[in-house]
Amino acid sequence: MLPRIALITGASRGIGAAIARRLANDGFDVALNDLSGQIPALESLQKEISSAGRRTYIHTADVSSASKVEDMVDGTVKTLGGIDVMVANAGILGRISPVTECTEDDWDKIMAVNARGVFLCYKYAAKAMIAQGRGGRIIAASSVVGKQAAGLRSAYSASKFVVRGLTQSAAQELAQYGITVNAYAPGPIDTLMMDPVGLDQAAKEAYLNTEIKKTVIGRLGKPEEIASIVSYLASRESAFTTGQTISVNGGQFFD
Ligand code: NAD
Repeated sequence: MLPRIALITGASRGIGAAIARRLANDGFDVALNDLSGQIPALESLQKEISSAGRRTYIHTADVSSASKVEDMVDGTVKTLGGIDVMVANAGILGRISPVTECTEDDWDKIMAVNARGVFLCYKYAAKAMIAQGRGGRIIAASSVVGKQAAGLRSAYSASKFVVRGLTQSAAQELAQYGITVNAYAPGPIDTLMMDPVGLDQAAKEAYLNTEIKKTVIGRLGKPEEIASIVSYLASRESAFTTGQTISVNGGQFFD
């Protein structure tokens, strides 16, 4: 049987770490990416997954750099023997602020990671998967605000719309190679991203409560509740699902 290898970006914590654990549990060998500052957390996750019997590979890289993403995909192929699943999960929220106070620098930073980073992961994973000739699964993080934008998060919302457009376009091009392309659109999930920078404690609590109130379930989601959807999208049985951005949002938005 062929090896099954998944590469997950932003894997040191939160949703990315939950996806890495879940895919390892599903039988994948996993390549773990994050920024170099996250090495201790990556190593601890690597230890956990390796002791459960799966092969692992750590490759730190900033996903907004083309040469680094290319090296990361190459390193995964050379070390683990291929790439069957790319999960372009890394993302940043940026400052919560009105569009009138969103600086060009804020805009560029968010777009560099959330839009350009996902594009680069799609591009280099697709090239490697086409060369391998055994199909594949390409998956990325959009958001509930990539379907219905939120105020005070203009650049972030726009970047998550980009992921949906890219996913729909790449799905059409890559179907001929047996590669499906899908995204997940989480609502508020209990990770460090729900602790936005630049807000005082009272404002953070108000932000959290507003997000929870928008759900019909009435709580934050768990990272594992996103990982289970990714597990399905990464599986062979999802072969007829492509170009979709799947909402997992506690009923915050219906589509
Ligand atoms: P998180 O902040 O806990 O984790 C994000 C990870 O990405 C971190 O480990 C971070 O170091 C890494 N990262 C950031 N910039 C990077 C870069 N340039 N290169 C490589 N790695 C980088 O966030 P999370 O909640 O786990 O979010 C994961 C994904 O899900 C993100 O794309 C996020 O936008 C999306 N999402 C999260 C929520 C939520 O409520 N938590 C909701 C919707 C969408």
